[in-house]
Amino acid sequence: MLSNLSANTSELHIFQDKSLDFCAIICLQQYGRGPALGGCRMLSYASMDVAVQEAIRLAKAMSYKAALSELPHDGGKAVIMRSANNIDRHAVLKRFAECVNSLNGKYITTIDSGTSQADMSTLKKHTSFVTGYLAGDNTENDPSISTALGIFKGMQAAVKLTYGHDNLAELPIAIQGVGNVGYHLAKLLYQAGAQLTICDINQSRALQCAAECAATVVAPSAIYAVPCVIFSPCALGQILNSLTVPQLKARIIAGAANDQLSSPDQADALAARGILYVPDYLINAGGLIHLSLQQKTPQYIPREIARIAQRIFTLAEEAKLQQKTLFAMAEAMAEVRLSANSKTNCEK
Ligand code: NAD
Repeated sequence: MLSNLSANTSELHIFQDKSLDFCAIICLQQYGRGPALGGCRMLSYASMDVAVQEAIRLAKAMSYKAALSELPHDGGKAVIMRSANNIDRHAVLKRFAECVNSLNGKYITTIDSGTSQADMSTLKKHTSFVTGYLAGDNTENDPSISTALGIFKGMQAAVKLTYGHDNLAELPIAIQGVGNVGYHLAKLLYQAGAQLTICDINQSRALQCAAECAATVVAPSAIYAVPCVIFSPCALGQILNSLTVPQLKARIIAGAANDQLSSPDQADALAARGILYVPDYLINAGGLIHLSLQQKTPQYIPREIARIAQRIFTLAEEAKLQQKTLFAMAEAMAEVRLSANSKTNCEK
């Protein structure tokens, strides 16, 4: 039995199917920009409330990401609560595809933590509202490579703002999580000559990345206090909080993880410590840019991803003029763009 709830301009859809121990949440924030394009997480959650709150926060971040990246999308995110029971993954994905289909194209799904390109290929058999599935040589449709490239460009911009040059050679950089994005980012940074320290709760993943990128591995709990110029969160969200921010020795935070701040005032705590925080939804837009523009030529997409650096410079300049943090400036700019969309819709 599928059930479904909705509320004003944001829509919260909750789908449950007891026979499969299935619970999926899709949150949409609609401003009339276009179909919401956002990943589908499949993780374990302590409760449905925790999963719902995460879907809501992530959908908002996707709205901001699309608005700042000037892409024709609303914000949306899906969360599948991973069952502790050993449920057939194909059956879960098929049921999720039915949920996506019931939204009639308002939401296009793709990979996120806990889902893979292979999962997207499974979904593709049951819905046309999916992207990021396996295609070509299996890398051409992988948003993680583009997300890593965007983070790399954003790091260069943040280093330029901090030190007046954008050379990452010899720079100590700490990466938390070397999964899809963190691994590709580590490779780019290694090629640029950075000195890497990494961690991952998956020890074999950390060791493989360390061997390929001459990185030092530390325990996950030790990563915050690593002396470095850039700390790059590339695992899960809410990791910049009152326990971790005081431990940081970095000058810059620039990473892929969505929803990094446990609350907005952590941005002020970082600023008070002289740490430049590059907002997650600004710097991690490479994957969204890639998936949104994948019909364009192969040369076009890296150029668009490189514009992330220009957006950081522009916002930083405005933030300086207005004596705001980069975070406050990015929030304000995203809100201005989204309210302009809402206004246009009301006038139609
Ligand atoms: P992933 O699941 O492939 O990688 C995350 C890695 O972090 C895994 O290797 C995991 O073992 C590790 N990890 C989890 N908890 C950890 C901890 N406490 N300490 C250290 N390591 C830990 O996910 P991904 O696709 O690489 O995405 C990473 C983050 O970036 C997520 O927050 C995701 O939402 C965000 N993001 C991803 C993309 C993309 O293109 N994949 C785009 C934008 C944002």
